[in-house]
Amino acid sequence: MKDVTQDTILVHAGRDPRNNHGIINPPVYHCSTVLFPTLDALEEGDRNMLSSVHYGRMGTPTTFAFEEAAAELEGGYKSVNTGSGLTAIAIALSAFTKAGDHVLITDSVYSPTRRFARETLAPYGVEVEYYDPCIGAGISALLRPNTSVVFLESPGSLTFEVQDVPAIAAAAKKAGATVMIDNTWATPLFFRPFDHGVDVSIHAATKYMVGHADAMLGVVTCRDEATWTAVKKAATRFGICGGPDDLYLGLRGLRTLAVRMRQHQESALALADWLATRPEVTRVLHPARPDFPGHALWKRDFTGSSGLFSIVIDQVPRKALAAMLDGMELFGMGYSWGGFESLILPTRPAAVRSATRWTDPGQVLRLHAGLESADDLIRDLDAGFRRMAAAL
Ligand SMILES: *Cc1c(COP(=O)(O)O)cnc(C)c1O
Repeated sequence: MKDVTQDTILVHAGRDPRNNHGIINPPVYHCSTVLFPTLDALEEGDRNMLSSVHYGRMGTPTTFAFEEAAAELEGGYKSVNTGSGLTAIAIALSAFTKAGDHVLITDSVYSPTRRFARETLAPYGVEVEYYDPCIGAGISALLRPNTSVVFLESPGSLTFEVQDVPAIAAAAKKAGATVMIDNTWATPLFFRPFDHGVDVSIHAATKYMVGHADAMLGVVTCRDEATWTAVKKAATRFGICGGPDDLYLGLRGLRTLAVRMRQHQESALALADWLATRPEVTRVLHPARPDFPGHALWKRDFTGSSGLFSIVIDQVPRKALAAMLDGMELFGMGYSWGGFESLILPTRPAAVRSATRWTDPGQVLRLHAGLESADDLIRDLDAGFRRMAAAL
């Protein structure tokens, strides 16, 4: 589709009712073996294995529908689906690293990415170095002739540092490195990696794309054919593929992504504004708030903000924190985010840094604003603060 907005792409991409009996949604193909009618067809299939229906693991029309929608939405060449966000990160990093390479990863990266780097890349002979997420063009000083990947995540996990993506990408490109970003927080709606010099955009589709906390899914979208081929080959080597029903849920989630994101954005901002007025809250870590250090960069490069942010509260005894968290009626406590439900989670950013230090002595709480009424959510938080005070 040409000259349509992302809202429209979300509704129409990856489906073709005219070639599906008029049925609006594509079918779900459950498949391992694909039969070839002739020897010629078999040999042709082998030659064209990376982008045809060849074997279940290599992709079915269900896979291709999701990948096509994801790539169109992000404005990339093509996508590769994976069974989770973490597998998407792992194959993207694996595709562009070999023994002897040096890789630069932002210090605010999602912790399991750090674990993959430490426990898989490093033992295979890749030197992993972390950099200050706010380094900007200063990344030049860290780039080496063997730097093969510069990995970004913006805003960063837990603490939401906004990176100067164009400056980092430009320096990395000059040094010949592949630039990849974990773009899960913003979704392709609120940040466009390929407009800012990124080569590979990674999403935990588990979060907002699926959007209903009922499937694990990942997707890697690539700027051009060469990049895509490298990622697709890595996925093929590892035998990675999403499950058909989960891919369908990903595709279905995309249809409503734009309206859901507008609501997540609005509610998160309403919660953040209210929280900023609370005496218990010492800081609100939300890129779209003018008092946030990375706000100017966010404003320059992003077109919206999602439902996930953090607050810092004064340290309280564990039993007071438990009194707040255990009694929440609407906010659930648990990992992941991006579904319709609101979540609250105590986190410890200081424990997962190596290039920088998180020195704020307060307790960090990460919140996800779901699709409940923001007024009801505020009442739930208010009651939580009152339980906390009563337990002091
Ligand atoms: C959740 C998350 C992932 C991993 O996604 P899974 O689908 O849970 O494997 C990767 N990056 C970020 C930023 C995440 O929040």
